[in-house]
Amino acid sequence: MHHSHCIEEMNKPARGSLLGIEHLDGGEILGLLKLARRMNPMKPRPLLRGKRVLLLFYEPSTRTRSSFEIAAKSMAAMTTLVLSSGSSIEKGESLLDTAYTLRALGADLIVVRHPLAGAPALMARHLDIPVVNAGDGMHEHPSQALLDAYTILRHKKTLKGLQVAIVGDVYHSRVARSAIHLSAKVGARVTLCGPPELLPEVATTLAPGLHITRTAEDAVRGADVIMVLRVQKERLAGVKISLQNYTERYQVTMSRVKLAKRDAMVMHPGPIIRGLELTSEVADCPQSVIVEEVRNGVSMRMAILSKALGRAR
Ligand code: ASP
Repeated sequence: MHHSHCIEEMNKPARGSLLGIEHLDGGEILGLLKLARRMNPMKPRPLLRGKRVLLLFYEPSTRTRSSFEIAAKSMAAMTTLVLSSGSSIEKGESLLDTAYTLRALGADLIVVRHPLAGAPALMARHLDIPVVNAGDGMHEHPSQALLDAYTILRHKKTLKGLQVAIVGDVYHSRVARSAIHLSAKVGARVTLCGPPELLPEVATTLAPGLHITRTAEDAVRGADVIMVLRVQKERLAGVKISLQNYTERYQVTMSRVKLAKRDAMVMHPGPIIRGLELTSEVADCPQSVIVEEVRNGVSMRMAILSKALGRAR
């Protein structure tokens, strides 16, 4: 016991790391959101000149990966991408050995996505450079929650008191977990909605004040924000759900969107599967900010990287 306690003490996560929303406080969250407002990828600023940003991706990614890369480059950092396929990871190199290798190559910061919860934290405890979590298994996806909050604030005055409906595969979603923590810390009210297989009751213990409803209508009624989640087919492992049943009961359709506030925003972290968790009409409707989320992701990640490296201005 004593021994493991010592190891914990010695191995604090490297300074500047962003491992999740759960351990941030409201002030830190609002600070990052404020910083993102000053970032404009169209007006590059060399805040990270001379820095090497390593992007280490063990899972597929389109938005997160390219947006961290563009964010780093628009601040004049050098970036190198390492994918699990085609690298020594395929040869069985351990996560920590890969991390030490990247550090030896001169990495100043590592952005990592990994199928296992806690992988970025493990790296951060063994490295002396900041580690940024770009999604770890079913745990957290902090940059997504931050860019979503940033996007909401472009349309609403404050996050406090907002009614947020999170609809879909909550159980397997790291996006939901980070959004739930963020909402609790800034005072937004969250209603979770999904079938029991994808949303067990225990989800309400994640944060105070969480509600669950099993009907999409109840979830979206009066909502300011509807956050739609993809059914994480790659993480279902044995969970049997009928997709037809799912779409009937939980698909976000125009008639369901109409139950929300008139100025409600429809969000989705992507990738969207049209015709499953939402209809094509909803994806493209005027209230949908799905494309804007992607755009805002670059400013948000500029803020995250510059803060992590102590170069935020
Ligand atoms: N892109 C998000 C993630 O990596 C959401 C999703 O894949 O459904 O978690």
